[in-house]
Amino acid sequence: MNLTERDSQHLWHPYTQHKTAQLPIAIKRGEGALLWDDNNKEYIDAIASWWVNPYGHSNKFIADAIYKQLTTLEHVLFGGFTHEPAVLLGEQLIEILPGNQKKIFFSDNGSTAVEVAIKVALQYFFNKGEKRTTIIAFENAFHGDTFAAMAASGISFYTQAFEGMFIEVVRIPVPVKGTEAVSYDALRERIKTTNCAAFIYEPLVQGAAGMVMYEPEALDKLIQICQENKVLTIADEVMTGFGKTGKTFATDYQTEKPDMMCLSKALTGGTIPMAITTFTQEIFDAFYDDDINKALFHGHTFTANPTGCAAALASLALLKTDEMQANIVRVNKNHLEFQKQIETHPMVLTTRVLGVIFALEIKTKDNESYYGTMRNKLYAFFIENGIIMRPIGNIIYILPPYIITDPQLQKIYQVVEEALEIV
Ligand SMILES: *Cc1c(COP(=O)(O)O)cnc(C)c1O
Repeated sequence: MNLTERDSQHLWHPYTQHKTAQLPIAIKRGEGALLWDDNNKEYIDAIASWWVNPYGHSNKFIADAIYKQLTTLEHVLFGGFTHEPAVLLGEQLIEILPGNQKKIFFSDNGSTAVEVAIKVALQYFFNKGEKRTTIIAFENAFHGDTFAAMAASGISFYTQAFEGMFIEVVRIPVPVKGTEAVSYDALRERIKTTNCAAFIYEPLVQGAAGMVMYEPEALDKLIQICQENKVLTIADEVMTGFGKTGKTFATDYQTEKPDMMCLSKALTGGTIPMAITTFTQEIFDAFYDDDINKALFHGHTFTANPTGCAAALASLALLKTDEMQANIVRVNKNHLEFQKQIETHPMVLTTRVLGVIFALEIKTKDNESYYGTMRNKLYAFFIENGIIMRPIGNIIYILPPYIITDPQLQKIYQVVEEALEIV
């Protein structure tokens, strides 16, 4: 049996209907933006393996940092103990985060980073003796697959089996250009009619919805409305963080800053699962008390894993180099040029670019479902041509490692153009 056949004996894959899905591709090796399967077929990783890998596969610099940490202190419990990688990472993150972010809480993945933020928002008001239990989120939001994160998510594909079992969530439309006022009014109305604790959002780009983009000024306005009503704000930067939008955080485009931020995905350069939720001093202070009941009773076994922290420190060092910043600008320039060239194509409905993110919506007669026929056809076409992409319905997006070369980008663009001819 080959690897793929052995896989199907025992393994259950994410977001996969095993009865109808094609067998997975066995990847043997990765380097830079490239991956190779067990037949030595080469693929360009055009989506940075679900948006986690900015600095390239099998990155030596991060690997060395991980090895050094593994052979010094691989792990120690974080309850009652601390270690230098966690302290250093905290210090370095505070330096690059918005000025109002003062406290750092560790967990393992994007969903838990969101879970922590939502629990903190709810307990913040509990600790203050105020009854506020509703979370506000955008339509078509994606915040993860654990229960509170899933409740905040608005893509029915992921949540329909669990309707009625969630914490209270109300939704507002995303303020895409031209519809901002509808979004502001909806927010004001939800705040008036429910006991809102917090508003959670993906800043400027809704990733899983299909890289849906909106303007920083609109988000500033929504945050202002929350501030006027003492509703906490949570920026879920799990996808947007660490350079993807052209700035370190999408929040860096904002005048108004959130009370909490969720980070994961690129935090460790796509090596070790790790996540962080950050807070203002004011939020931390609502838990700081002689009364033990006011503490945050949340934790994970691998909280602040030193190896993960070492990987994150190495990743941050790479992000800060002039070379990496130049890569982000270079990828963005390539995207903008391709956008100019492709936006008038008769099959193209619309295109969007922010930072290293490029998205293209294909004209369709019917509404294409998330995992519909067009998506499957496109996915197979890209794989056939050695490109790893995961179209969302009729939306194709590119979110490559920052170190991708110009010829590799041009190859992706070329296959995208060809894909428009086959749909
Ligand atoms: C991927 C993602 C999550 C969930 O992260 P996981 O590590 O998959 O649990 C949450 N929020 C956003 C915006 C994401 O893109």
